[in-house]
Amino acid sequence: MFDKILIANRGEIALRVLRACKELGISTVAVHSTADADAMHVRLADESVCIGPPPSKDSYLNIPSLLAACEITGADAVHPGYGFLSENARFAEILAEHNLHFIGPKAEHIRLMGDKIEAKKTAKKLGIPVVPGSDGAVGPEDDAMAIGEAIGFPVLVKAAAGGGGRGMKVAHTADELLMALSTASNEAKSAFGDASVYLEKYLTKPRHIEIQVLGDGRGGAIHLGERDCSLQRRHQKVWEEGPSPVLSAAARAKIGATCAKAMQDMKYLGVGTIEFLYEDGEFYFIEMNTRIQVEHPVTESITDIDLVLEQIRIAAGGDLPVTQDEVAIIGHAIECRINAENPETFRPSPGKITQFHAPGGLGVRIDSAVYQGYVIPPYYDSLVGKLIVHGKTRGECLMRLRRALDEMVVEGIETTLPLFRALVREPGIIDGDYHIHWLEQYLAGQAAKTKA
Ligand code: ADP
Repeated sequence: MFDKILIANRGEIALRVLRACKELGISTVAVHSTADADAMHVRLADESVCIGPPPSKDSYLNIPSLLAACEITGADAVHPGYGFLSENARFAEILAEHNLHFIGPKAEHIRLMGDKIEAKKTAKKLGIPVVPGSDGAVGPEDDAMAIGEAIGFPVLVKAAAGGGGRGMKVAHTADELLMALSTASNEAKSAFGDASVYLEKYLTKPRHIEIQVLGDGRGGAIHLGERDCSLQRRHQKVWEEGPSPVLSAAARAKIGATCAKAMQDMKYLGVGTIEFLYEDGEFYFIEMNTRIQVEHPVTESITDIDLVLEQIRIAAGGDLPVTQDEVAIIGHAIECRINAENPETFRPSPGKITQFHAPGGLGVRIDSAVYQGYVIPPYYDSLVGKLIVHGKTRGECLMRLRRALDEMVVEGIETTLPLFRALVREPGIIDGDYHIHWLEQYLAGQAAKTKA
């Protein structure tokens, strides 16, 4: 097992990793920018190192500073959390070159899945169903119109290096396609430094359903069921739940087995998420994330498996914690991502939290790194915290969630709490009858009502 882990992240996920380390008896090193000197992860870690000024590129993304921090503190492993360097294959390799463990998959798998065109090809080869689309990148030399016609409009132009919903454009007709290709390609070039784009059939009312996997790197792999992340705004997840309100046990077992088998064949190491769109009873692979995800507590709640702790154990050479037969889905869980944003315009609202009260009680979990008096800096994402509620049934879960949301207090800044308080009372949500465009349609409807 590792002796000392450096956590190359901030906020709630840094705290989450810290908790797992403490339980495993591993010493922790927090790193922070000058803007995060008072952050909770810094206070709770055994040691901390300032790695640079506020901009992420100078601190949390600064590899030489992170290496120096490992050297100074004698850390033997690095946990990247999510975002920042978590899906940077080169970072994983550089750590290895310095005899440091990267707590994550093999660099080759990070690289493979980081290129969405390659990822799709690999998925197809491994027997995972994919969204119909172009065979690879679509460049100026290709007859995009003909490819679009063959797939059937509407089509979606996506960036090969995509992430966070950037570099994506819908084209409803052949005329719109040329414009969409150049816009998406330019956006991809400036966001990711890679202009390659590809085409996919644009699904009109799918759900986003993703399968959590866990592999030991030696050919052993299991799946831990799904999370339904269909409630999104601008392709960003807002509310996640598991199990999906629309998936039968048989359908779960089938797609789960396909994913687990693919991970066994790849000899995948660590935690991963295989993301699908799901429409008319069919699954279509869109991408794989080779890291712990924001919404991992949903799976932890319904499987009673500590994903971060297992991730660390497995990275140190440990075995899978359970066999596939031992995985049981218990009850229902929902996670709300509460952001420091105006609940209607979604304008970021950084600043000082003057009052903070976290709800409690049976089945209620808060993953957050804020406290009363904490100042949310303007430099990073706007997550205040995640509220995760568990119940025996979806109905009980919703009942608890309603109560927990009403009990939670965050003052001094604007948050998206009022949005969740409204959502948890919406018939479409209560019935579980929603798809990936539901939330944006709902928000547009609310905005129209306010204007009238
Ligand atoms: P990113 O890596 O940028 O997050 P993804 O491929 O994971 O991109 O897609 C993010 C979201 O975009 C999906 O959850 C879904 O809402 C939407 N999306 C992606 N592909 C399609 C598609 N072919 N048809 C309709 N919506 C899509």
